[in-house]
Amino acid sequence: MKINCFFLIGMSIILSSCYGSKSILKNSFSAEHSEIIMSSDSSTPMRVFKITNKQDSLLLRMKSHYIKATPSDAVLQRFVSRLYATVRDSISLGVGIAAPQVGILKNIIWVQRFDKENIPFEVYLNPVIKSYSDKKQTFREGCLSIPNRTDTLNTRAFSILIEYDTMKAEHKTETVEGFTSVIFQHEIDHLNGILYLDHLNKEVIDAKSKN
Ligand SMILES: [Zn+2]
Repeated sequence: MKINCFFLIGMSIILSSCYGSKSILKNSFSAEHSEIIMSSDSSTPMRVFKITNKQDSLLLRMKSHYIKATPSDAVLQRFVSRLYATVRDSISLGVGIAAPQVGILKNIIWVQRFDKENIPFEVYLNPVIKSYSDKKQTFREGCLSIPNRTDTLNTRAFSILIEYDTMKAEHKTETVEGFTSVIFQHEIDHLNGILYLDHLNKEVIDAKSKN
């Protein structure tokens, strides 16, 4: 059992250093990932990585990297389209998705904006949460990468201040509230290798320490 754990830790260090050096050099996609992305048209969903698969779950635990918002980057355009096709896939039908969920460790998310008219899906590059409200909210969450379960979380902030880049290379700051802010918190967690289940464990630990 111990040998297995060490092996997994070793693997993850090798994988993350490998991904890290590539992204720092290019701020774009690796040749291998570009090939996967361009291998199908923009309406073809990509495979969703799941925690039930050991190799997938290692990648889901890694940190994603900066992506340069280059409007002329055909691979980036194709990737965001295919990531959208993945979240809107009839099997998935999610309200948000993050690039690592399809095996690409880049800071890219799609979020359905329940706070806007016609609840559009919007894509964000390099999103960061700059501040959280003290006020919390309770919602039931599910995840495309965690099959067959949903759980209620009490620890999400009601309101967050976010910064991000758009596909037109604009840098924006925005305050988001309510359910939409839960989706942002969930998806930005993915970019840091955090899954909603981690917050659930933290809730249990916090509750125990209060007793
Ligand atoms: Zn998720």
